[in-house]
Amino acid sequence: MNSLEETKFLMKKYNVNANKNLGQNFLIDDDIISRIVDSAEITKEDLVIEIGPGLGTLTERLLNKAKKVICIELDKKMIAILEDRFKFYNQFEIIQSDVLKLNLKQLIDEKRKMYKNIKVVANLPYYITTQIITKLLEEQLDLESITVMIQKEVAERLIEKPGGKNTGAITYCIDYYCETQCIIEVPNDSFIPQPKVTSEVIKLKLRKQEPVKVKDKEKMFKIIKYAFMQRRKTLVNSLTNANFFKNKEDAIRVLQKIGIDINIRPEQLTLEDFAKISNEKM
Ligand code: SAM
Repeated sequence: MNSLEETKFLMKKYNVNANKNLGQNFLIDDDIISRIVDSAEITKEDLVIEIGPGLGTLTERLLNKAKKVICIELDKKMIAILEDRFKFYNQFEIIQSDVLKLNLKQLIDEKRKMYKNIKVVANLPYYITTQIITKLLEEQLDLESITVMIQKEVAERLIEKPGGKNTGAITYCIDYYCETQCIIEVPNDSFIPQPKVTSEVIKLKLRKQEPVKVKDKEKMFKIIKYAFMQRRKTLVNSLTNANFFKNKEDAIRVLQKIGIDINIRPEQLTLEDFAKISNEKM
């Protein structure tokens, strides 16, 4: 059976429909599934964490490659299907949870020693793409890579470099933590039901070394966040409004000291610029 036939068969067998509120768009293109699995470069020593396995189309392929696959799924109906479908696979484990609420750090720390690498592979629920990726990066999990299907529009923001037209706060977060790679653009007829947007598979490889020297990472990301919350304002104005500086004069003094144009807009700054600002006493 191909993925399209399999998806239709499973939906009929278990009498389920896709739940739009949970971002359920089931992948039905075998070539795309192969591209995701191949680009994740999974070995028999790896633990794969799959977020949102749904009916398990991608899961089955991951189970054949990895030492272990831990799935995190919110929908109880999907959990029942997956438990039935993969009951004979020792390497399959499922956690019923909202991935945004799950203590992933604890989960990964517990499993770390048993596997060579831990990799996230997923066709993500689009309504929370950015939150999931931010969580995976900011919690500093011991991950080797993240290979995910997401909306093309979001992918463009993630893989953009500072200074581009799609640059946003998340661009800097990605730039700080990973090297990015576009794998393939995916048309919306590769899913049922079809999402309204085009998708893209991207791979994020976690850096082993920080690309810039920063004393307080959290402070730097806060500055970036505030700078982009008011992206039409100049940096001086948005950082003064967010109380990072005592007043405008103080902001101008600090920026001038480190050689940053005081009329600059946030997207024109490099990651190094933000690191320099955050390393200054305010
Ligand atoms: N992996 C399947 C596939 O490719 O066909 C389904 C992908 S579907 C785009 C997204 C999946 O994420 C759904 O199964 C949905 O139930 C699940 N999901 C939605 N919100 C979630 C959350 N907060 N935590 C965990 N899983 C979630």
